[in-house]
Amino acid sequence: DEVSNLRVAVRIRPMNSTELATTDVEDVVRIKNNDLVICAPKNYHGITTDHIFQYDHVFWSIHEKDSLYSSQEDVFLTIGVPLLNSAFRGFNACLFAYGQTGSGKSYSMMGDINSEEYSGITPRFCRELFKRVSEIDKDCVVNVEVSYFEIYNEKIHDLLSEENSSRVPLKVREHPVLGPYIVDLTTHTVKSYEELRNYLYKGNKNRATAATSMNDFSSRSHSIFCIELGQCKGLDDTDNSRRSKVSLVDLAGSERLGSSFNNEEKMKQGVYINKSLLTLGKCISALSDQRKGQFVPYRESVLTWLLRESLGGNSLTSMLATISPASTHLDETLATLRYACQARSIVNRARINESPHD
Ligand code: ADP
Ligand code: MG
Repeated sequence: DEVSNLRVAVRIRPMNSTELATTDVEDVVRIKNNDLVICAPKNYHGITTDHIFQYDHVFWSIHEKDSLYSSQEDVFLTIGVPLLNSAFRGFNACLFAYGQTGSGKSYSMMGDINSEEYSGITPRFCRELFKRVSEIDKDCVVNVEVSYFEIYNEKIHDLLSEENSSRVPLKVREHPVLGPYIVDLTTHTVKSYEELRNYLYKGNKNRATAATSMNDFSSRSHSIFCIELGQCKGLDDTDNSRRSKVSLVDLAGSERLGSSFNNEEKMKQGVYINKSLLTLGKCISALSDQRKGQFVPYRESVLTWLLRESLGGNSLTSMLATISPASTHLDETLATLRYACQARSIVNRARINESPHD
């Protein structure tokens, strides 16, 4: 078993034009000796002292000219490549992006697929995966399958099915051995990066269509891109076959959730809280509690039910928390950073998924 903590990284995007146009806006984020420092702004009375946070990585993406600057490539090399390495070794892997709407989740996870420079982790991950497949031993049979779905209002929609127009929600079931799975979710075998990319286009297009027909859709929906990698050596070989599952998750916006995981009060007030995101917070809270026998409410939401193994079990998991540098978002930024700190204390036990000649 590979015992590891959940890896947590934070990325800071540049200020956007709205933030820059706000009177008295201040840039409150600094990096000092690898620590992330949130400085108390002059014009805000919420915090009066600096707050210091530690993570596995801090990506400073403010000005391309800064010496510390982290590009899309840097982010991929630091958090994407280790997950890819694990997948080839037969471990499950998961990466999820967390942060308020507009903080850079989709930019980091997807970016501009067609750009060398600005494509995000998902397209880079997939391109590199096929590069490695092409370099693998010829007597090793490799199989790559993808699926892509979203969760909106606790309902699952396949982003790659042909009958997407009907938008019939899919159900989660529990397989006695393999764990939770989505009934009737389409999976697609792909032989090249170009073929895979067509599914990314298709899924993203379906997401965008839904976004224009429903207000707030993109900030309230979670999207999950899954890659299953199967590696099987010839039958005369003594080596085993390996399977691993990689989940790349772009979560709903974390705003309105606040820093407290107990939001029953807000719910009673009719404040919209995303059930899956709220439950994710409860699960992280329970898992990071060192006391034994803590109940982890995975089954309370669709997202956490599906990500159960990635959170509390057999997977190498990373979280990318994205934040704005502007003082106007200080409350949400602190909430995101605290959430990310808590996630960092989760310990997972990843196993290689091997089975002799299956
Ligand atoms: P989210 O998915 O969290 O709602 P987006 O990824 O859509 O946020 O980002 C919001 C806006 O900020 C987009 O216009 C995006 O291009 C820009 N942006 C986000 N992160 C960065 C970054 N690191 N560098 C430059 N622009 C960014
Ligand atoms: Mg987004």
